[in-house]
Amino acid sequence: MFMKERNEIVDYCKLLRTRGLTKGTGGNISIFDRESGHMIISPSGIDYDIMTAEDVVVCNLQGEVIAGDKKPSSEFPMHAIFYQQRTDIDAIVHTHSMHATVLASLRWNLPAVSYLVAYAGKDVRCAEYASFGTSELATNAFEGMKGRQAVLLANHGLLAGANNIATAFAIAEEIEFCCEVYLKAKAVGEPVILDDNEMAHMAEKFKSYGQK
Ligand SMILES: [Zn+2]
Repeated sequence: MFMKERNEIVDYCKLLRTRGLTKGTGGNISIFDRESGHMIISPSGIDYDIMTAEDVVVCNLQGEVIAGDKKPSSEFPMHAIFYQQRTDIDAIVHTHSMHATVLASLRWNLPAVSYLVAYAGKDVRCAEYASFGTSELATNAFEGMKGRQAVLLANHGLLAGANNIATAFAIAEEIEFCCEVYLKAKAVGEPVILDDNEMAHMAEKFKSYGQK
């Protein structure tokens, strides 16, 4: 059941580690099949190096396991809320990447320090703090990501969402890079922030960027 999606979850979980977007078993990834209402999500606490497609869990948005014998990620509610309430999001990548987490521990928003921020919006907000795995964290992340494709989770990490897993992963990677740029710029001076008009222009340009 959903073997293509389960294999994609394994591939992108391994990429979290090789691209330096997380440590240990931190972070989690899911894909939503809107037609059946099923979520395909990484299992709780299994090392990405040994994770297989069979470990990946298929469940409904109420958290009932449909296929797989592992427990779904403890951040299940934070994935479900987006699939329930945002039709533009069918894949979520949550990371504990270093620079996003540093920014989130300062509880700063990420301003438009680079045009690449436009992958997520005109800026990326830092959501209110709540304990991991709670419905309160899910609500805070959802509120913080309104009108955006990414959100910083206070004292925790980063969450990115898109209509497919490749784009969600790319947004997580670009926003982590922008957080690093912002922190390094702030360490030596005051970075110049791009205005909202330019960021709206960048968002338009991204729609036609790359190969057709
Ligand atoms: Zn986390």
